Amino acid sequence: MVTRLPRPVVDDVELVHQVVDQRQRGRNGGFFERIRTPWKQRIRDYIQACGNPETVTPWAQAVRFKTRFLTLYNSPQNNSVQKPILERLRERTLQMCPACGEDGTPNTLDHYLPKNEFPDFSVTALNLFPMCDTCQGKKLEQVLNEEGERIFLHPYFDDFLDQQVLQLSIGQPYSAPKSMEVSASENLTPQFQSLVERHIESLEINKRYYHFFREKYTHLLGSAADIREAELDMRQQLTLFRNSARRKSVNSWGYIFYESVLANEELISHLENSDLPALESWARALANEEAL
Ligand SMILES: [Zn+2]
Repeated sequence: MVTRLPRPVVDDVELVHQVVDQRQRGRNGGFFERIRTPWKQRIRDYIQACGNPETVTPWAQAVRFKTRFLTLYNSPQNNSVQKPILERLRERTLQMCPACGEDGTPNTLDHYLPKNEFPDFSVTALNLFPMCDTCQGKKLEQVLNEEGERIFLHPYFDDFLDQQVLQLSIGQPYSAPKSMEVSASENLTPQFQSLVERHIESLEINKRYYHFFREKYTHLLGSAADIREAELDMRQQLTLFRNSARRKSVNSWGYIFYESVLANEELISHLENSDLPALESWARALANEEAL
């Protein structure tokens, strides 16, 4: 979502074909055989529409018999064709959540189109990707806003996620981590900008980023004091920090932090010239704030 992920190498239409073949011997064999062709078409439509719920609407027949589909995902038989595919998707180890950009290894698989409303995509690889628990707890079954616009970014289809889509602005006072806001990058088209804004708001990224920001900013003030003491170039050193964070993604929380610092002339001047608090007093101030 804030990061583009390589698409899983799975032919999702062929997967449906094979699932139906396997189900033929099972209890709901007749049911799956009857829907084989329209179900495969649904997968093609999903891919064609890039999973966009503004275009892909729920399929009444699948919703009515949703348990039959959900069983394929929730308790796949050992020899089933989808089981190794789901396992491979679960085994993917990322260094950050693709939805919010926070560091860590996201350990739940999310259905981009939720499986209760879209049970026919419950084992579709292109509808499944890792997400952190916090994001999943906020996303839940949401798909569209009241205006009928999709809320969330899609990590497999939204190619524009290769560029920086989140931006941070840091406000005064610069002496303390007080004022900040994460928003959609100004370099995006208005249409993508509002999509990213909906995504940020629904996952409460601002509130969550603030905790990260406080610690990161405190470290920044400490590093700035070190850089001055060592008589190094402030901008050059901060650029190194930023570039190191870029290895993860241009939308990682670390990258957007340093990117914002470097773009802020006033703040750089503050780091270069103002009295910086001693680190110990900062640690104390933070601890006191935590206590409140
Ligand atoms: Zn997340």
